[in-house]
Amino acid sequence: MPKITVDGKVIDAKQGQMVLQACNDAGMNLPQYCYHPGMSIPASCRICLVEVEGIPKLVPSCQTPVRDGMVVHSNSSKAIANQKQVMEYLLINHPLDCPVCDQAGECYLQDYSYQFGRSQSRFEEDKAKKPKKDVGLHVLLYNDRCIMCTRCVRFTREIAGTSELYVDGRGHREEIDIFPGKPLNNKLSGNVVDLCPVGALLDKEFLFKQRVWLLKEAPSISPVDAGGENIFLDYNEGQVWRIRPRYNPAVNTWWISDDTRYAYKALRDPQRLKAPRKMQYGAPIDTTYASALETAKAGLVDLVKANGPGSVYVVLSPMMASEEAYLLGRAIRALDAQAVLALGPVPTTGKNEIFKNSMTGKQTFEIQAEKVPNAKGVRRVLEMLGGPQASIEQLTGSAGGNDAIGKLKGGWIVGGYFSSWSSNLNFPRGFKVVQDVLPGKLADSADVLLPAAMWAEKDGSFENYAGKIQPFAAAVPPPEGVRREGDTYLNLLGRRELYHAETIRGEMGGEMANVKLETAVAPSPAFEFAEL
Ligand code: SF4
Repeated sequence: MPKITVDGKVIDAKQGQMVLQACNDAGMNLPQYCYHPGMSIPASCRICLVEVEGIPKLVPSCQTPVRDGMVVHSNSSKAIANQKQVMEYLLINHPLDCPVCDQAGECYLQDYSYQFGRSQSRFEEDKAKKPKKDVGLHVLLYNDRCIMCTRCVRFTREIAGTSELYVDGRGHREEIDIFPGKPLNNKLSGNVVDLCPVGALLDKEFLFKQRVWLLKEAPSISPVDAGGENIFLDYNEGQVWRIRPRYNPAVNTWWISDDTRYAYKALRDPQRLKAPRKMQYGAPIDTTYASALETAKAGLVDLVKANGPGSVYVVLSPMMASEEAYLLGRAIRALDAQAVLALGPVPTTGKNEIFKNSMTGKQTFEIQAEKVPNAKGVRRVLEMLGGPQASIEQLTGSAGGNDAIGKLKGGWIVGGYFSSWSSNLNFPRGFKVVQDVLPGKLADSADVLLPAAMWAEKDGSFENYAGKIQPFAAAVPPPEGVRREGDTYLNLLGRRELYHAETIRGEMGGEMANVKLETAVAPSPAFEFAEL
């Protein structure tokens, strides 16, 4: 393992690493714009230039391989003079509009300006003005702010493989642009906003919504498909304002799909169910959550008394956290020891979507066709709970072969899908408790309707298609009138404590008991020259 000395500090580097990567891994704060650990290294921004003893000129630390015994200076007078010159050059035409820029507070240009910038500009001529452009479905380009790091261009070539962005012109006329008639509409397009180190690429949905220093972050998991993409929910004042990727080398690396990025919009759906309801004399009436829950429990208890064990079913949705599915399964089995359990519908779009580097053909990202986050986790719960079970097709009458279905007189159905899901399903006749987030035929016909919380409003875990169990944390409270399912199920079980996902995972035992919420720090890979 090569050892290098940077600014007097000895660092253990990996064989094949660049100097900047070794410094990043060692927690040293060398300035950098164009370098990104997930993409090729163009060494174009020049701010990471360092002095290496024995080499007469400054070298880009991002593109200089480590060598055992190397002595590097990033704070020598020559290196600092370069950092200041690069900053002065980048700011010559920059509009300095930080007060109205979304990136303010997380802008590399702003941060390095404090470190290496001049307090006054020596530039007296008119600044070059470049047009703002609508480059795609989700992304705006403020070209004035661009520092030509080419991260966005490399992303579309090397990760999305769609190559919509390119550099137009040369010198001070250089601009990022889209090819004519080819907008930035690929399904990973929002990643360029995260990648842009300044405020040149902006998310239309987030534009002027919040100052980033007001946002708090909660680690979470994507609810839109079975991929289990790791994300941060950025929230403030009870609302989620944006979703960013959370680095996980085994799942999504640095990227997320646009479906994941905009999943928070579902939380604000004006159609969301917020008022508990129950049937009274054949008509639905609004009621309190406590009264609805009491009616639900009493209805199921009466059914079992009148018809014996095996008269109740429960539909566990693949939108539920595993802990919730486990608690509901146990709660219903406590009312009816022979209750029939079923996994709710698992919608798919046919095939996974694969993204490849347009130059090497290497796969870079995959969007799963299965459009629910936790079918695998709920199947694990069903296996744990055992006893009578049915498929959703058997339960809703589109497939036969299960004698237990004929005896069913009522059940508890959980939805939670982001769009209408139940209109074509015919659940067994009888008493129905429905827990859902959106209105529909099923909610309308429920004897008791309990509005449900969404994933960002509660703790839990999802198991992705590959069997990786990943916990997520609540960012915001559920809307007024809605209770977290975990609390409801504990109440059904006669337990007085509040729901705590980690405690429930402990009760579930096995693999679930060891699952902890963790956030990985992105390391710098040892870079292969062959990939350049
Ligand atoms: S738009 Fe942003 S990411 Fe793209 S080259 Fe300019 S500064 Fe870099």
